[in-house]
Amino acid sequence: MPDRIWEALYELAAAAPLLDDPRLVHRPMRKIVESMLDQGFQRPATGLFVRCPVCDSEIGQICINVPRHTLDDPVHPERLALSRTILMEAG
Ligand SMILES: [Zn+2]
Repeated sequence: MPDRIWEALYELAAAAPLLDDPRLVHRPMRKIVESMLDQGFQRPATGLFVRCPVCDSEIGQICINVPRHTLDDPVHPERLALSRTILMEAG
């Protein structure tokens, strides 16, 4: 079941940029992710479910370009590394 919830969250994250106010999606997404973590589920190590240390993108929000930081993927490499570190520390 957690896999289906994360999958649904990915779909919401992908849909959010199409809205006039993506915060309508990101705020409840953050609450769902926090609730999942409180219940002991681990977040996937994709970077999407942690706040970005480079551009401050919220949980569920794709990264934005900032000077001197490469952004070839939906999330900054630093954000991906952070989520992997969190997963390793949890595991
Ligand atoms: Zn970022």
